[in-house]
Amino acid sequence: MLFKDLASIARRVAAITSRQEKVRYVAELISKLPPDEAYRALLILTGRIFPPSDPRELNVSWATLWHVVSLLVGEAQPKGVDVGELIESMLRFRKMKQTSLFEEPLTINEAYRMLEAIASAEGPGSKVKKGVILSSLFSKVEPEEAWLLANAIVGETRLGLSEGLLIDAIAYAYNLRREDVEKAAMVLGDPYEIVRRGGKLELRPVIFRPIRPMLAQTAESVKLAIMELGKCALEYKLDGVRVQVHVKGSEVKLFSRRLSDVTASIPDIVEDVRKGLKAEKAILEGEVIAERDGKPLPFQLLMRRLHRATLDASIMREIPLKLYLFDLLLIDDTSFLERAYIERRAKLEEVIEDPLQLVPSIVTKSVEEGQAFMQESLRRGHEGIMAKKLNSPYMPGGRGRLWLKIKQIHTLDLVIVAAERGYGRRSRWYSDYYLAARDPKTGEFIIVGKTFKGLSDEEFEWTTQKLRSMAVEETGKLIRVRPEIVVEVAFNEIQKSPKYKSGLALRFARIVKIRDDKTADEADTIDRVRELYEKQYKKL
Ligand code: AMP
Repeated sequence: MLFKDLASIARRVAAITSRQEKVRYVAELISKLPPDEAYRALLILTGRIFPPSDPRELNVSWATLWHVVSLLVGEAQPKGVDVGELIESMLRFRKMKQTSLFEEPLTINEAYRMLEAIASAEGPGSKVKKGVILSSLFSKVEPEEAWLLANAIVGETRLGLSEGLLIDAIAYAYNLRREDVEKAAMVLGDPYEIVRRGGKLELRPVIFRPIRPMLAQTAESVKLAIMELGKCALEYKLDGVRVQVHVKGSEVKLFSRRLSDVTASIPDIVEDVRKGLKAEKAILEGEVIAERDGKPLPFQLLMRRLHRATLDASIMREIPLKLYLFDLLLIDDTSFLERAYIERRAKLEEVIEDPLQLVPSIVTKSVEEGQAFMQESLRRGHEGIMAKKLNSPYMPGGRGRLWLKIKQIHTLDLVIVAAERGYGRRSRWYSDYYLAARDPKTGEFIIVGKTFKGLSDEEFEWTTQKLRSMAVEETGKLIRVRPEIVVEVAFNEIQKSPKYKSGLALRFARIVKIRDDKTADEADTIDRVRELYEKQYKKL
C-alpha cells in the first residue's frame, strides 16, 4: 500500500468519532493487507514505530524534524496545532518536490524500512546520518502524507487508537473472541505481534519473548489485605527492579518490566540463575536489588548502576546485585500461567536449589502474624509486603486485585506531561514537572500537581535529556512532552484546587523515584487520586 493511502486512512480514523466504527475501519485495514504490512501500518498509525518488546528507538525530536524540513523548504510560515500539521504546512511552501520523474511513490514498507534505518544509525555521525535519511523521507512525500509521518515520528498520532481499540479491531478482523486476543497480546507482549502472525493466537509463554507482567494494586493495610483475600501468601516487597528470566539450556535472557532485554546490563544475575536452576527450560520472575552482606542498598545505587552506558568490574564490585525470585510461568514445556499461585510457588521451590534465591514468604490468615511479617520486612530495609491470593492464576498484564502491595508511605505513580526550566543554577535543566494521573476512560492524562523537588543533579540531567527527545511542543520556558516518564511521588495532602482541570492538587509533592520500569498506562488513575482525597477527608 502507498504511504499516501495510509495517510488518508489516518485522516479518516481521526475524523471518526464512534468507537465501533473506528474498530471496524481499522479491522478492514488489517484484513486488506498482508500480515507484515498490516503490522507496520498499525505501528505507524499508533505512533509507536516499534512494538513494546522491540528495544529500538527512533529518538527524533520535533526540533530535529523542524530543522530537517526547514532545510528542505527554506522560508515558511508554519501553522498548526500539532507537529504533523506544522510540518505539513511547512511543506506547502516547498517550491518543487525534489524527486526524479521515475521515482516510485513511497510505500508503507519503504517508509518503514527508512524509519528502521534511522533507528539503527548509531555512534559518531549518527545525527548527520539520521538527518540525511529523514530529509530523503520528507522529500518523497506530499504535505498531506507528511502530517502522518511527522506525528508518527514524534510518537503522537492522536488517532484515538488505544491498545484496547486495537485488540477489538484484531478480534473483529480475524473473527476471534476478544478475551482470547487480549490474553494472547499479554502473553506475546503486544497486540501488534498477533497481526504479524496473521491472527494466529499464542496463549502459552514463548521462551525469549517477554510476557506482560502481572501487576499489583494497593491495599491500605495488612488487615484490609487479609480481609479482602482471606488466607493468603505474604511476601517481602523488595525495592528494586523486576526481571523476567527466560532460560533455555545454557542460554539466559533477562527482560525488564517494560519488556526490554536487560541481559547485558546484569551479567552477574545471569550467572546466578544458571547456577541454581534444576530445569532445561524456564520462565521465572523476580526482583533484582542492590545488596551487600545480606542488606539491601538504596534504590538510587541500583539505578546508578543500571543507567550506566558501559559496565566495568569496579562498578559491579561497588554495587553488587542479587535476584530474588517470586514466580514461575513456564517449566520445560508446561505453562504454569493457569495454575494457582500456591502451585507455582511450590514448583519454584522445587526447581530452585538455594532457598536464599527466593523472596521470603509466609502463608497466613492471621492479621497479627501478617503485621509482624510486615515489620520484619521493613526492619530489614525493604519497602513493605505483597499479599497474593492463593488460588489466583498468573494474569499477564493483569491489574486485578489478586496481588496487593502494602507500603508504609503512600505514594502515587504519576506521569510527567510538561516541564519548565528552572531558575538560577537549575536553568540548564527542565526541573519543574507537571504531574498527571491517567483517566482510564479516555486515556487522557490529567494534571494533579507540580514539583521541582526530589531529584539529584544527575537525575535532572537524565530527565532533561529524555524530555527533550519526547517534546511535542515548546513555548518559552515550557515544554510539553509525550506522556511517558513515570515518577513515584510522595505528598503531604491532596487539596481541592481550581488550578488544574482535575480540581485537585497535591500539596508538597516530591519525587521519590523515577520509575523508568513503568509505562504510562501503569501509572495511577485519577480515580485513585480522588479516592485518596476522599479518604483523607473522612479522617478529618
Ligand atoms: P509497584 O511497582 O509499586 O506497583 O509494585 C509492584 C512491583 O513490586 C512489581 O512489579 C515488582 O517489581 C515489585 N516487587 C517487589 N517484591 C515483589 C514480590 N514479592 N512479588 C511481586 N512483585 C514484587
